[in-house]
Amino acid sequence: MIIVMKAGAAKKDKDEVIKRIKELGYQPHVIHGTTRDVIGAIGDERGKLALQSIESMPGVESVVPILQPYKLASKEVKKEPSVIRISDTVAIGGQEIIVMAGPCSVESEEQIIATAREVKEAGAHVLRGGAFKPRTSPYSFQGLEGEGLKLLAKAREVAGLPVVTEVITPETVDLVAEYADIIQIGARSAQNFALLKKVGQAGKPVLLKRGMSMTIQELLMSAEYILAEGNQEVILCERGIRTFETATRNTLDLSAIPVLKGKTHLPVVADPSHGTGNYHYVAPMAMAAVAAGADGLMIEVHPDPEHASSDGPQSLKPAKFAAMMTQLRRIALAADRRI
Ligand code: PEP
Ligand code: MN
Repeated sequence: MIIVMKAGAAKKDKDEVIKRIKELGYQPHVIHGTTRDVIGAIGDERGKLALQSIESMPGVESVVPILQPYKLASKEVKKEPSVIRISDTVAIGGQEIIVMAGPCSVESEEQIIATAREVKEAGAHVLRGGAFKPRTSPYSFQGLEGEGLKLLAKAREVAGLPVVTEVITPETVDLVAEYADIIQIGARSAQNFALLKKVGQAGKPVLLKRGMSMTIQELLMSAEYILAEGNQEVILCERGIRTFETATRNTLDLSAIPVLKGKTHLPVVADPSHGTGNYHYVAPMAMAAVAAGADGLMIEVHPDPEHASSDGPQSLKPAKFAAMMTQLRRIALAADRRI
């Protein structure tokens, strides 16, 4: 249920409502709106009628049910788009489109620093790089792990870019959170509910990728796991789903962008690198994603893709990335956005 407070309701009234929600066995989540606050009462659906009595409390405008199975992620609870601050200069969900770029895996100091400098120069806002890699084969490169996180921290200093990196186990969430400005949950972990709960407590923004066979509703339910732990900073990422098509690695579901924007206040990012698996298709699909309303992009960039430890075929060389950024700026302008 959502408790809609009257515009200008006193703090005392809000506190009383929060107290009552707790007494009834529900978890209160306060969402500050531009004109009024709403308080989500999250918990067992079966007892929700008891919450209706809150309607008669001072300062309360109305008590309305949340119809969607995802609650805190829903636009019913928060109509305005969420703008998530990543650093002093970078925020996602506003007018500016945020580009996260870098190699699939952190491989060496030289590789990550050179890439960080190049993508920054081309206008990227966030550096990506995997230290813990979820690989389909146990014999493939698994990432530099802790050492990779240290190299990312170094690259952040050198290039002045915040970093996004993936976590794959609940046990390493605290370690990754120490280094990351955004914690990435990969497609293969998107329904690892223990991991989602743990990143919900990590106090850092989370980039949640769509699992390769997840529906849009399931993606929003995964986001709800993070939000329900008290972390309101969730960024959703469409990275392609598995279909019968084999000409591309995945099928980048661009329609998920406007669908998600209609259902949730959370920012939505597209990843055309994993979405297509082929560097030739990355720029056109990045442009299409911006036209479709994406708030950001995740792009794999590698100085020497032929020798990359992972995902070389879909990685752009820095010069190609810079050329794509120039094209993207024009598309962004046409879509009343900027990069
Ligand atoms: C990645 O970002 O390198 C990655 C493993 O992505 P995904 O989880 O979308 O496959
Ligand atoms: Mn990758």
